[in-house]
Amino acid sequence: MSVMNVVSLPTLSRVALCGGTHGNELSGIYLVRERLRRREKGAEAEPFALVTVMSNPRAVQQCRRYTETDLNRCFTEATLSSTPVSDGTPYEILRARELNALLGPKGSPEAVDLVCDLHNTTANMGLCFISYSDCDWICLHIYRHLQMATIPVRYVHFDLPIGEAYSLESVGKHGFGEWGAYYNLLAIHSQTFGERVQLMLDWIRLFNSGAQFEGGPVELYTKVKTIDYPRDSESHHISAAIHPELQDRDFCLLHPGDPVFLTFSGETLRYRGKEPLYPFFVNEGAYYEKGIATTLKGVSARWVTPPPK
Ligand SMILES: [Zn+2]
Repeated sequence: MSVMNVVSLPTLSRVALCGGTHGNELSGIYLVRERLRRREKGAEAEPFALVTVMSNPRAVQQCRRYTETDLNRCFTEATLSSTPVSDGTPYEILRARELNALLGPKGSPEAVDLVCDLHNTTANMGLCFISYSDCDWICLHIYRHLQMATIPVRYVHFDLPIGEAYSLESVGKHGFGEWGAYYNLLAIHSQTFGERVQLMLDWIRLFNSGAQFEGGPVELYTKVKTIDYPRDSESHHISAAIHPELQDRDFCLLHPGDPVFLTFSGETLRYRGKEPLYPFFVNEGAYYEKGIATTLKGVSARWVTPPPK
C-alpha cells in the first residue's frame, strides 16, 4: 500500500450499543439486558466508553414494536427539533429526543463516535448491516472484519441525506443498524448476536490501539425502491400475498417477469421492473402497516478505504 492511500481517522472514544429500539425484537433486548446486568456487578470493563442503551423501555416492557409511533422513524432532524411538544406528543418522539440528548446531538461534534443498533426481522435475510453511508470507512471495516471472521453478513446502503435519516444509528458520527434473523429464535440467535458484537468491540479496540487495516473491495447493496402489496382500489385492503416462489428468497436476484405476488383469487403477479434487482425485507411482518411488501436493491462494489489512484 502506498503512503498516499493511508487514511487516518480519530479514535472511537465513545461507542453506543443499543437494543430494544423495537420492543419485540428479542436478540438485542437480551444482549443489552445482559450487558447492563454485568456492568451493575462491575464485571464489564471496556477500554473505551461503551454506552449500553435500552432504547424503548416502555415498548420492551409490553413486548410490542412501539407504544404510539415507531421510534426508529423519529430521528429525522425535523422530528428531533422542529415539532412542538404538547401533552399529546407520542412517547416515542419524546424518547427520541432523550436519546438524541444522550447520544447526540445528531450532526454535532458532541455526538458519540459510533452507534450500533440491534434489530431482528421476520424476513429471511440473515445478518445484515444497514447504513446511510456507502463510504463510512469505520462501518465498512467492521463489516469486512466480520466477513474475514467467516461470518456471512451483507451491507445495505440507504441513500438518504443525514437530515432525513430516520433511524437511531444516524445520531452517531458513524453508525449502522444490525439486523439478525427471526424474532422467535432467541436461543439460537442471541448467542451469535453476542459473538458478532464481541467481534465489533474487538475491532474497535484494535483500531483505537493504532492498528492499520488494509483496504480492499467489498460488496454493497444500495436500496432502489420499495414495493407495496396489491390493494383493493376501494377498501385498500391487501389483495395478494408474497408469491411462494419469492418467499424466503431475500438477496436472490429477481428478474423481470419473475413471480412476486399471488392474489387471493389465485392469479400470479410478476415483477414488471426493467432491470433485475435483489429483494430484501421480503414479507417483513412489521412493514404491513408501512405499505412495504419487499424492498429492492442494486449491488455494487466499494473499497473499504479510498481506492488507489
Ligand atoms: Zn427493528
